[in-house]
Amino acid sequence: MTFEKRCLIEPSDVISVQYECDHCHAAVVVPIEKLDPDQAASFALSGCTFCKTPSGYQPGTVESRVFLNFNAALKEFAHLSNGRNLRMRLGIKCPE
Ligand SMILES: [Zn+2]
Repeated sequence: MTFEKRCLIEPSDVISVQYECDHCHAAVVVPIEKLDPDQAASFALSGCTFCKTPSGYQPGTVESRVFLNFNAALKEFAHLSNGRNLRMRLGIKCPE
């Protein structure tokens, strides 16, 4: 007999987004309903407000565009997917 443990989340399970500086670990937690693309852009395109370390995202690059689009999609998709027959679940590492 084989058992497989899978951990899945749905976009509607996401209740907040945390932006954390990998250098000094200062963090801002934004509730999903207050997620603001302009604020996400500010986090991505300016340095850490505490230690001033650059985010590593440069304006106009593919990675900054993907970052901003993902932030916008997170907020919208949780609402837009309600009531649909097709459910999208994301696999995550299970807590050990
Ligand atoms: Zn920092």
